[in-house]
Amino acid sequence: MLAAIEAGGTKFVLAVGATPDTITARHTIATRDPATTLAEAAAWLAAHGPLTGLGIGSFGPVELDRASPQWGFITTTPKPGWAGTDVARHLSAALGGVPVGFDTDVNAAALAEHRARAKNAGGDDSGSLAYITIGTGIGGGLVLDGRPVHGIAHPEFGHIYPRRHPDDRAFPGTCPHHGDCLEGLAAGPAVIARWGVSLSELPAEHPGHAIIADYVAQACHVLFASVAVEEVVIGGGVAQTPGLVERIAARARALDAGYLPGGARHRIIAPRLGTESGITGAMLLAQAAAAEG
Ligand code: ZN
Repeated sequence: MLAAIEAGGTKFVLAVGATPDTITARHTIATRDPATTLAEAAAWLAAHGPLTGLGIGSFGPVELDRASPQWGFITTTPKPGWAGTDVARHLSAALGGVPVGFDTDVNAAALAEHRARAKNAGGDDSGSLAYITIGTGIGGGLVLDGRPVHGIAHPEFGHIYPRRHPDDRAFPGTCPHHGDCLEGLAAGPAVIARWGVSLSELPAEHPGHAIIADYVAQACHVLFASVAVEEVVIGGGVAQTPGLVERIAARARALDAGYLPGGARHRIIAPRLGTESGITGAMLLAQAAAAEG
């Protein structure tokens, strides 16, 4: 059996299955302190063994350098108790040394969406894709030519600085590090800080929709213009606001102004896998880990 964990700041989703497409059992636990949460996850997974591979898509920041002694750690998170937590090696050891694959939650989601795209394209897995999640924070994963991109650490699209919308100049932003970065302007808490309710609770004619769409569209334009991804997939709770993905796509086309050479092929879409991208991506990490032994 392959085992997968989508490790989030509020919940851990656990799953097992023979292949990434055949999850046969799943379980959700609350994210509490690291020792309690990891022990509970390991106990549930162990009861569904024997396991041949474990994949973890984790909230971060995380260490992805295989040569680092901290590989598989959550590093500098502000989440109380979790900074410097060994996740990957700890869980592998707790599960009898099972091979483990580890990446960010959004790179895992990007991998799964990339594979779903390839299936739709008749198996052509050459494309490139970014996955942006908009929820309590904003994160981004990137798959270029079929491989997740890490760089020196991993992408953090949430913390780029967009140009301010003309009707949104006074709001200081909510990011504790940057104030008015993308996350500080467009994540769920920034919406509530300005307008008192979530984006999906604002009336359809409220200017907040265009303001949020503008910021996310700028991030998509950055991705199209800098790394020339073919698709940007927009997931997360805020992105489920009716009409938002369409607004973002329309605004991004306006921002491009017909310039980019790949413009006609650029797409901004909702996740093909709905809310299953993250856990499916963790299953893919498990499959790869099992194959590598
Ligand atoms: Zn920031």
